[in-house]
Amino acid sequence: MSAIDSLPPLRDVIASHELSARKSLGQNFLLDLNLTAKIARQAGDLSGCDVLEIGPGPGGLTRGLLSEGARHVLAIEKDPRCLPALAEIAVAYPGQLTVVEGDALEVDPLAHLTPPIRVAANLPYNVGTELLVRWLTPRDWPPFWESLTLMFQREVAERIVAQPGSKAYGRLALLAQWRADARIVLHLPPEAFTPPPKVSSAVVHLTALPEPRFPADAAVLNRVVAAGFNQRRKMLRASLKGVAPNIEDRLIAAGIKPTDRAEQVPLEGFCALAREVAKG
Ligand code: SAM
Repeated sequence: MSAIDSLPPLRDVIASHELSARKSLGQNFLLDLNLTAKIARQAGDLSGCDVLEIGPGPGGLTRGLLSEGARHVLAIEKDPRCLPALAEIAVAYPGQLTVVEGDALEVDPLAHLTPPIRVAANLPYNVGTELLVRWLTPRDWPPFWESLTLMFQREVAERIVAQPGSKAYGRLALLAQWRADARIVLHLPPEAFTPPPKVSSAVVHLTALPEPRFPADAAVLNRVVAAGFNQRRKMLRASLKGVAPNIEDRLIAAGIKPTDRAEQVPLEGFCALAREVAKG
């Protein structure tokens, strides 16, 4: 296996800094630097970009991003035990790595980043979905990021890219696909990680669209989708009853059969319905 940089192998980094993985922090490390470089390549051309990385841990993906030419990486890590290992990477890539110790749910990364910005992370599973939802629901669109390249449990990845009619189709698919292109670019078995998690993982690459795929008010769309999928077994004329008066008429005006269930309705239909509901 060829080395991607002049730094020590990650097993040695983990041993010398005593970075035994902690379950409470969602620590499943990637130790194969060829694999982390491959994940970094899924994020596209990084040479003119700042990259936000959440949870660098011992720095496998960080090294992948830097060796693939990222202009600058901002890495936010909650576990202070990882900081000395990350400091060694910063020395090897002078001026290109900034590490902030803190909780990614609380740190505002924008103060440290210059556009264009891409996000790449092997996310801690306990905060991964929450971060994704935040990145997909900023006050203004387009968002601060051009793309998100994120590792998730495979089941979550499948919910992000799901199409109508499938069991995985729901709020996350609609939220992601309304304003981004989303696809799974890599599948990883549990053995790719140390320690191996119980389930398989997948990397999802999302590219922000300049504007939403179909017009709709974000809050109304969210309300309609939430009501539909909160009772996904029910017909929409029943599950959406409380959303607006005359819901059957509005469903028909949006081109949706009132007897359909939420999982049968494509994104375009939900957006049309949100516009009908917004008419008041
Ligand atoms: N990027 C490394 C890799 O690929 O080997 C580590 C990935 S590990 C799945 C998740 C990392 O996120 C851990 O280093 C953990 O300490 C860190 N982490 C967990 N919760 C966090 C949070 N709220 N904010 C920032 N980092 C967090």
